[in-house]
Amino acid sequence: MPELPDLEVLAENLDKLTGGKKIKKVVVLKDKPVQPLPPAEFISFVEGKIIKSVKRTGKQQLFTFDDGNTLLVHLMLHGELHYLQAAEPLPAYAVAAFYFAENKVLVFKDHTQWLKLRLNTQGESVMDPVTKKFTLQFFRKLIQDKPKNAVKEILLNQENITGIGSAYADEICYNAKIRPQACAGDLEEKDIKLLFHAVVDTLKDAVRKIKKGMAGNITGEFTEHFAVHGKKKGKCPLGHKLETVKVGGRGSEYCPICQK
Ligand SMILES: [Zn+2]
Repeated sequence: MPELPDLEVLAENLDKLTGGKKIKKVVVLKDKPVQPLPPAEFISFVEGKIIKSVKRTGKQQLFTFDDGNTLLVHLMLHGELHYLQAAEPLPAYAVAAFYFAENKVLVFKDHTQWLKLRLNTQGESVMDPVTKKFTLQFFRKLIQDKPKNAVKEILLNQENITGIGSAYADEICYNAKIRPQACAGDLEEKDIKLLFHAVVDTLKDAVRKIKKGMAGNITGEFTEHFAVHGKKKGKCPLGHKLETVKVGGRGSEYCPICQK
């Protein structure tokens, strides 16, 4: 599942690939992603528009057209984007495609069809942890309001903060030297500060690394920078053996020596 850093780099790369380009033709292969609009209405709205910019907003990609109208794309759990030559056959499970004048096509693909394409709608208004609005004061209140929750559960709650999934929650906990299953009520002020800074630094650092790793691509995932997540029975960067635990139903990796 793409998390905030992946989506941030995706928006940048999409902007570079499609910004300034005119959408010559739109094809909708599955109705569900454009509902409740009938596909014909979606097509006639988007065709002929020029993409001015693409930016991330929460977990969504916001396309702004030259006439001020917008398209919000939510990849959900399994959505993928592909930027191909127009002459190539569309990949399996393509749900929609935008053809550009430059003989290129942007393909929206999702075998579950959960991917959402929405015209002129606002994105979610949940706290974005890489904006200035995300403060220690805000974060301290989240921790103090849920003293019985595990730290990772608070980080994962999409009603609190947008874009942190299981992978980055594990990475944030490792960087803060706090176990994902640690009880929020047991954190001292210095731990809350460490965790707050780990949220911001881990996500921003990941954006830099993914940018390098993805090299302008919009398809695929880059996870080589992970210190602990997904390294079941592996080792932390200091060579200690990792342990796994279930937190809020999610498999979690942590280092029993580095994290308390
Ligand atoms: Zn360790």
